Amino acid sequence: TTKTRFAPSPTGFLHVGGARTALYSWLYARANSGEFVLRIEDTDIERSTPEACQAILDGMEWLGLNWEQGPFYQTKRFDRYNEIIAQMLEKGSAYKCYCSRDRIEKMREEQAEKGLSQKYDACCRDLAPRNTDEPFVIRFKNPTEGTVVFDDHVRGRIEIANAELDDLIIARTEGTPTYNFCVVVDDWDMGITCVVRGEDHINNTPRQINILKALGAPIPEYAHVAMILGDDGAKLSKRHGAVGVMQYRDDGFLPEALLNYLVRLGWSHGDQEIFSIEEMKQLFKLEDINKAASAFNTDKLIWLNQHYIKNLDPVDVAKQLEWHMTDQNIDTSNGPALPDVVTALSERAKTLKEMAASSRYFFEDFAEFDATAAKKHLRGVAMEPLQLVQKKLAELNEWTLEGIHQAIEDTASELEVGMGKVGMPLRVAVTGAGMSPAVDLTLFLVGKARCEQRISKAIE
Ligand code: GLU
Repeated sequence: TTKTRFAPSPTGFLHVGGARTALYSWLYARANSGEFVLRIEDTDIERSTPEACQAILDGMEWLGLNWEQGPFYQTKRFDRYNEIIAQMLEKGSAYKCYCSRDRIEKMREEQAEKGLSQKYDACCRDLAPRNTDEPFVIRFKNPTEGTVVFDDHVRGRIEIANAELDDLIIARTEGTPTYNFCVVVDDWDMGITCVVRGEDHINNTPRQINILKALGAPIPEYAHVAMILGDDGAKLSKRHGAVGVMQYRDDGFLPEALLNYLVRLGWSHGDQEIFSIEEMKQLFKLEDINKAASAFNTDKLIWLNQHYIKNLDPVDVAKQLEWHMTDQNIDTSNGPALPDVVTALSERAKTLKEMAASSRYFFEDFAEFDATAAKKHLRGVAMEPLQLVQKKLAELNEWTLEGIHQAIEDTASELEVGMGKVGMPLRVAVTGAGMSPAVDLTLFLVGKARCEQRISKAIE
């Protein structure tokens, strides 16, 4: 069965590039009824932090990219790596290299002078075993002949001559295994059948394949995904604004919108733009990933966010909105149900952050009326419809949308004015400002007691 993995290094938050790689890997597992593994590559102790681990887990969870196995932590697997290294030394597929830093540096300088590519000259490869306490690293005995060939799902066939690869260090002087080696052992032990990862790792692949072969391990399939660029064509970085997945949550994006955005950023299915997660799972193919880098486009993400705000089940949108209500200190315990707020505001809001901000009057009284709106709608002759509608609203036995609507209509026809002449002062009175959803719905959601009290205040 298909088994894929996402293997982030916890050196920062989960950025959009990583999230897209995770999504593709996850989708490939889902599309093939396979399993998805999360592995935290935390062997770079200097740069890895527990906060970054947590940020990755949070990002994955928020996006709904669930895993069947893990999270595995490489730092907890050193015994296993060392076990394999010992076996390789014994079998002769790895060797101790005593070359000093000075010697390696000199060797490199000479190679550079001669215009040769820089690679270890395999000086220690055939040394007889030594009994010494000199420091050493352990190198993999890369084959010297033949080529490494693999068919990348994105990049097509890739061939590298072994003559171009040198003997990779698999354990450092202090005995710690190196990154490329841990990846190999893990992919093998975890039974990974397809490695989906960033293109920046493509040069590691032939080396990793050689080690897998030496271990007698099966060779997984590979898909190397191109980079994400900023809208200025440079590699996406903090300079381009939000790049951490959780920052998108904070900015008011729905996970569905970000996932849809990320899946289309470098993958396509005809010219379809909107994909539900179910659809992605069904339609995703590694072969449909673009070879070329893709440029991040915030406008398109916003467009998708609006689409999902309008079209998802309001109950689901409300779950995400709740976070923003808390974030903006809006106490929602006394007021309309959040899904109703979502339905009322979904036409206007680009983000949930905006939606939360513009929903405050449903839950809290405002200190003052917006000056411009009040000047226009809560003065002089404009007050007459407000006074009449106040009376009619007070007479309502039940606070229903129909009843409220009727009260507004009756006021307008009695005074022989347009609905707007009733609606606008009413809106300003009840919401404090000149913009809100339909006035009858707004009043309905604000609730009778609050409406009456606010209208009285406006009339004072
Ligand atoms: N840990 C690597 C990274 O975060 C990924 C390695 C891999 O997927 O093989 O870039």
